[in-house]
Amino acid sequence: MPLSKNHLPTSETPLVVATLLHFRRQVPWMYALLAINATALAYTHAGLAPRWMTHALPALLVPLILWRMFRWLMPPTPEMLTEAGATRMINRATVLGSFFAVAFVSWALGLAAYGGPYEHGHVVVFIGITVLGCLFCLTHLPGAATAVGILVSVPLVVYCLLSGNPVFVSVGVNIALVTAVFLIVLKDAHRVFHNLIASRNALVTERQQAQRLSDENRLLAHTDVLTGLPNRRYFFGALEAMLEARHQPDPAAPATPFCVGVLDLDRFKAINDTYGHVCGDRLLGEIGQRLNAAAQGPLTVARLGGDEFGVLFDGPPDLAQPAIRALCSNIHVPIAIDGFEVTLGCSAGIAVYPEAGTTAHALFDRSDYALYHVKAHQRGGCAVFSHEQEALIRVEQRVEAALQVACLERELELHYQPIFDTRTMTVTSVEALARWKSPVLGEVAPATLIAAAERLGVINAVTLILFERALTSLTVLPDPVSLSFNLSAQDLMSPSTMREIVRMIVATNISPKRIIFEVTETSLVTDMAAAREALERLRDFGVRTALDDFGTGYSSLCSLHELPLDILKVDRTFVNGMATGSGRSMVAAIRNLAQSLSLDCTMEGIETENQLIEVTLAGYRYAQGYLLGRPMPIDALLMTMREQHVHLPEAARHSVG
Ligand code: C2E
Ligand code: CA
Ligand code: CA
Repeated sequence: MPLSKNHLPTSETPLVVATLLHFRRQVPWMYALLAINATALAYTHAGLAPRWMTHALPALLVPLILWRMFRWLMPPTPEMLTEAGATRMINRATVLGSFFAVAFVSWALGLAAYGGPYEHGHVVVFIGITVLGCLFCLTHLPGAATAVGILVSVPLVVYCLLSGNPVFVSVGVNIALVTAVFLIVLKDAHRVFHNLIASRNALVTERQQAQRLSDENRLLAHTDVLTGLPNRRYFFGALEAMLEARHQPDPAAPATPFCVGVLDLDRFKAINDTYGHVCGDRLLGEIGQRLNAAAQGPLTVARLGGDEFGVLFDGPPDLAQPAIRALCSNIHVPIAIDGFEVTLGCSAGIAVYPEAGTTAHALFDRSDYALYHVKAHQRGGCAVFSHEQEALIRVEQRVEAALQVACLERELELHYQPIFDTRTMTVTSVEALARWKSPVLGEVAPATLIAAAERLGVINAVTLILFERALTSLTVLPDPVSLSFNLSAQDLMSPSTMREIVRMIVATNISPKRIIFEVTETSLVTDMAAAREALERLRDFGVRTALDDFGTGYSSLCSLHELPLDILKVDRTFVNGMATGSGRSMVAAIRNLAQSLSLDCTMEGIETENQLIEVTLAGYRYAQGYLLGRPMPIDALLMTMREQHVHLPEAARHSVG
């Protein structure tokens, strides 16, 4: 029951309780008035009336009313503050009031039989004045006031009228009139009080309804409809609140750390595309429920949009990391939808306050950096932002910025690295390797260029420019020499790029047999089926295919078997491992595996004579590496080949000069 500290009714107190609380402030006065006036009357009649009337009866009645008075002075009990309790108290006050009225008026009129005209006058004044005083105190209980008014004034007025004394008769008429007017005014005052409380309560109800509506609106404005999780607005509001709470006047005091995380579903776009958006929404709904159930204690999870979720952890990173990893594992549990099961992966990046930043913007950005890093290097993982990461990402951003304004036709070049047949030690093919000399950044490593081009979605343009150059170079190379050209995953996935590549080969009139396309294992795992289809088309056209960097990716032996491949290019890390017995066994095992799948084997990264001998003995058909020839411009390559007495075509002789 809302009450103010001094037990006064507040705006939310129900009417009956408000009435009682107002009444209890006046009732002690009423009892005090009665006790004093009654004592005075007993005093003026002492010696005139019998002792039982002037001493015994007051000694019984006065303590009784004083006891009631002290009861009302006590603080209200919780029970009194309920509607039922207050009603009971008011009813009891009405009954007791009526009892005291009858008792005192009978006693006073009894005393009127003794004494002279002054004492008679005192009796009439005592009853008349006291009843008016009591009615005043009963303003808030019109029922009790009416009962007391009637029970006291009627006998008094009758007594006055029957007295035969004209003064008493007119006093009786006066008292009857004043009491009647008093009761009418009192009733009116109570109605005003009643209306005041009722309108105040109505106002409170209205205010409560408005508050509820605004709470609901606020909840809606802060909730993501699809998942039921808090939304982006809530997330940033909560993040700001955490920062605000840590805003310390004393900068020397250590700040309590907290963590900001970003979760991103892996492969969600592919699932959305494959199964449709309705299914995608249901998946998000299920994930939302899981995250909602897990978001307890110091953990808050919100949906930021798409398949991205924000996490706030009010604690240090060593506690945040396991909690966020648990969220990722939760997402990883397969979801059954329409009779099929979908397993989603999830990567997470975390930024720690205050190391990573002290503003919402900085912290969120850095958790996003960490996520970006995880996605690029350790998909499905969870990493805490570090300044090394930021430096790395800044470099990548600079490369992207330079690439966006680059004139690719002018700035891109190709170098060619010979690949030798270990049986004849002649150049069997050359691998075209991209070189980018940026006017802004200088020479940029090809792996960096390709990764940036993939991120910016310009890799297809880069590939086509380079391939055209490579084809031109191929025309100046002797017939048995083939061209190895690297394709990125995005090239394989782009039907228009694949068509353009085929068109270019047809246009140059070069035999497709002289072209080998290299693809890395990692490029195949994104969408194995699409990659296989693209490779099959190329092979049907007549070109050969090679799996590059074998041993560094994730492709299983089974998928190796299923892929339309001609050559396996073993990653150069295996060459380095050949110094040990187990390394040599591994190299031999890969060769045997390739042989069983009817694949030729190329060993990359040959740098020493010993390595070349080992690889040759292990049965590797082709070898490539700095020992045999570094990547070089086509002119330099042709020169080297001429020095090695390789028969060059007519065009090449002009080219080399
Ligand atoms: P990759 O396809 O594995 O190319 C071989 C890389 O190994 C080349 O690095 C080459 O210079 C280097 N290399 C060759 N022999 C040796 C050796 O004996 N020792 C050592 N330590 N390294 C050796 P590069 O030119 O820096 O290219 C790096 C990667 O960039 C390539 O690896 C390839 O994945 C990618 N790349 C290059 N050009 C292109 C391109 O035109 N298109 C695409 N999609 N990727 C390309
Ligand atoms: Ca390659
Ligand atoms: Ca390679």
